[in-house]
Amino acid sequence: MGVKVPWSEGAAYMDGAYMPIGECRLPVTDWGFTKSDVTYDVVHVWKGAFFRLDEHVARFQASMAGLRMRLPLDAAGIKDVLMGCVRRSGLRDSYVAMVCTRGILPPGPRLPSRATNRFIAYAVPWVWVMPPEMQERGAHLIVAKTPKIPSACIDPTIKNYHWGDMVRALFEVEDSGADSCVLLDLEGNVTEGPGFNVFAVVDGTVVSPDRGALEGITRRTVFDLCAELGVPARVSRMTAAELRDADEIFCSTTAGGIMPVSRIDGRILGNDRPGPVSLRLKDLYWRKHDQGWHATPVDYALPA
Ligand code: PLP
Repeated sequence: MGVKVPWSEGAAYMDGAYMPIGECRLPVTDWGFTKSDVTYDVVHVWKGAFFRLDEHVARFQASMAGLRMRLPLDAAGIKDVLMGCVRRSGLRDSYVAMVCTRGILPPGPRLPSRATNRFIAYAVPWVWVMPPEMQERGAHLIVAKTPKIPSACIDPTIKNYHWGDMVRALFEVEDSGADSCVLLDLEGNVTEGPGFNVFAVVDGTVVSPDRGALEGITRRTVFDLCAELGVPARVSRMTAAELRDADEIFCSTTAGGIMPVSRIDGRILGNDRPGPVSLRLKDLYWRKHDQGWHATPVDYALPA
């Protein structure tokens, strides 16, 4: 039955029970697997506290509603399970996922509403979409040739596993020797990257695409930090040329925070290092984490 994975490598919850992450298995006939008919959300725990937990759970519930999924758990119940996973893992820095799959369809008409939706949650060690060394020098991005799946087909504001476009784009990244990429929509507008939102700094204003992307909780945080620093910020349509010509570029995600970029399609931004606005936002982001901003402490002491 394979090697036992310790709880410290992660704790999961599925079908009403907690288990070590290595024992959490999805039946292959679940539509979450066979049809990517699934939504999820990810919140992080940093130094023993969740960041913006209520907002992640609210977005998860909105995503479920968008896919006509229902669970017997309300927001408090979901948060309880997330706490239960982190507590059992003992992890102080953790990537915490909540997942809802369509489930298995019972025999009979092939109508998705007939399935009982399945809730899964897990806490695993912290994940960096871009590791700290890459953030220090600034990430090297390319604009992928693979376009983003159109929003009319898959709503990007519902967090999803339709990553066929992103994975194809990540192979372009590997072939080019870059670190990551941004994807354009079919009209040539910048959308987002594989696991992050994108920002350009143009003449002192922070701009993020207004379409084709997940409404990131970290993106919201970036706008909050801009307001605090008095830096103008807005969402707007953004072409690939506008992104390439930006003074600075940075990315944002729960799994890594605010991540500066130093090259795009080989073009060097500034002095080939993270730009000043990106760095101020990144520093403030982590400083405010340490001050308990939007923090929900994990109670590790409760009996497991
Ligand atoms: N866009 C995509 C496709 C993502 O998967 C993610 C996060 O995983 C983001 C953007 C960033 O969203 P958030 O800041 O809420 O983590």
